[in-house]
Amino acid sequence: MNSELFVLLRDALVQHGDGLRVACSLGVEDMIVVHEIARAAASVGGRPRVFLLDTGRLPEESHTLLDAAKQKYAIDIEVHLPDAIAVERLVRRQGANGFYDSVQARRACCEARKLGPLARALEGATAWVTGLRREQSPTRSDLPVSEIDDRGLIKLAPLAHWTTEQVWAFAKEHQVLIHALHSRGYTSIGCAPCTRATKPDEPLRAGRWWWEAPEHKECGLHSRSVS
Ligand code: SF4
Repeated sequence: MNSELFVLLRDALVQHGDGLRVACSLGVEDMIVVHEIARAAASVGGRPRVFLLDTGRLPEESHTLLDAAKQKYAIDIEVHLPDAIAVERLVRRQGANGFYDSVQARRACCEARKLGPLARALEGATAWVTGLRREQSPTRSDLPVSEIDDRGLIKLAPLAHWTTEQVWAFAKEHQVLIHALHSRGYTSIGCAPCTRATKPDEPLRAGRWWWEAPEHKECGLHSRSVS
């Protein structure tokens, strides 16, 4: 029997076709979405537009998983790199690792390395899918499964209500490809210099920008105009 997730993704593919994009950071939630949308695409004869934002600072394990995912799921994953001039200006201004110095400097790095490529990844899109969940952080606690984002696009978060236990049970049952860093204590996957393993009693995103307060732990990819 097809999962609720499969049905939602299949319907989104049928409805939006080439206008549907799937964001993949290679963390377990996104890999579940990729796993299911590959199956959904095979069932309706579509081609999923999955994309990865390669910031230039990803861990080696992410590149290894990217290659393995393309092979296992027989899909293309569009890799979007930051604009070289934007990165050059950023590094001249604040150094290669200036993001440790302030929230402002960190956001400037995320803007150059993530937001610019995201805008390109979403060109021509009418809807996009993420693996975001409410449990992940206080900033996501009221995340809806479907909303209109700040760009005017339909943004789907089909795992919004999933618990961590459900995520790992699904991944195990369906033999979803898993990022190597998860088995080394990483509960969230991001850029190498900005992500560390977490302790069992820490929040799921404690390893992201661990030097910042929890309310700052977003990079702008998923900012929401909360009314
Ligand atoms: S997560 Fe860190 S390295 Fe990656 S874009 Fe943001 S500040 Fe830069």
